[in-house]
Amino acid sequence: MIISHHTYFILLYCWMGIAVITMPILFKVTPPYGRHVKDNWGPLVNSRLGWVLMELPVVVVFSWLFFTGDAPKTLPVYLLYILFMLHYVQRIFIFPFLMKGRNKKMPLTIILLAVVFNLFNGFFNGYWFGYLSDYSMNWVTDWRFILGAVLFFSGIYVNISSDQKLIKLRKGGKTGYYIPYGGMFRYISSPNLFGEIVEWLGWALMSWCLPAFSFALWTLANLVPRAKDHHRWYHKRFENYPDERKAVIPFLF
Ligand code: NDP
Repeated sequence: MIISHHTYFILLYCWMGIAVITMPILFKVTPPYGRHVKDNWGPLVNSRLGWVLMELPVVVVFSWLFFTGDAPKTLPVYLLYILFMLHYVQRIFIFPFLMKGRNKKMPLTIILLAVVFNLFNGFFNGYWFGYLSDYSMNWVTDWRFILGAVLFFSGIYVNISSDQKLIKLRKGGKTGYYIPYGGMFRYISSPNLFGEIVEWLGWALMSWCLPAFSFALWTLANLVPRAKDHHRWYHKRFENYPDERKAVIPFLF
C-alpha cells in the first residue's frame, strides 16, 4: 500500500469535487483545440503529437499500479483493465493518425492540463484495481457488469464510427469544415462525444466503484460543455445547419 484507504477516498472525493466545479467553468471557457484553436494560450504544438502526449500518462500510471499492486487479479479485473486499454490504444495510436491535416496545432497549455488530468485519473483507477479492489469471479455474471458492457461497447462503437464520419468529410484532400449527416448526426451535433460519455458510464457500471464513477463524472464535465461549444459553432458557421439537431443528448440537450 502506498497510501491508506482513508487518504485515498478523501483525495478521490476532492477530485470529484473539482470535476463538479470544472463543468460550469467549461460552459464559460472554451478549451482552444480542434476547431476552437487559438494562439493566445501559449506555444502551439503539432496536434497529433499533442494527442499522444496528452493520453499516454493514463496508460502508464494505470498499468504500473495495476501490475505492481497486490489486489486479487480475477477475470473481471483483467476484463475491466483490457477494455480501458482498448479505448486508449485507439485514442493514442490510431485516432491521431487518422485525423486529416498534417499541420494542425494545439496549445501546449491544453496538453499540460490534459496530462495532469490523466495522471490523476490513472492514479485513482490504477490504485483501485491494483491495490484496493476485490472482485469475485461471479462478478462477470452480475447485471451491472453485463449492462455496463453493453453500454461500453455501444458507446465505443458510436464514438469511433462518428469520429470516422467526421474525418471522412475531408476525404480527397479537402480541408475545412462541412455539415456531417447520417448516423446519430441526425439527432445531435456531437455523437462522438455522446458515444464517449456512454462508454465511460458503461465502464463505471461494470466496475461499480467510485474511481470509475469519478472518471465518468469528469467525462461528463469535459464533454457536455465541449459538445455545446461545437453545437453553437455549427450554428454560427452554417446558415443551413439542421434546426432539429440537439447538442449531445438526442431530443433533450
Ligand atoms: P471533433 O468532433 O471536434 O473532431 C474530431 C475530428 O473530426 C477532428 O479531426 C476534426 O478536425 C474533424 N472534424 C470535426 N468536425 C468536422 C467537420 N464538421 N468537418 C470536417 N472535419 C471535422 O472532436 P474533439 O476534438 O472534440 O474530440 C476528439 C475525440 O476525443 C472524440 O472522440 C472525443 O470523444 C475525445 N475526447 C475525449 C475527452 C475526454 O474527456 N474523455 C476530451 C476531449 C475529446 P479538426 O481537429 O481540424 O477540428
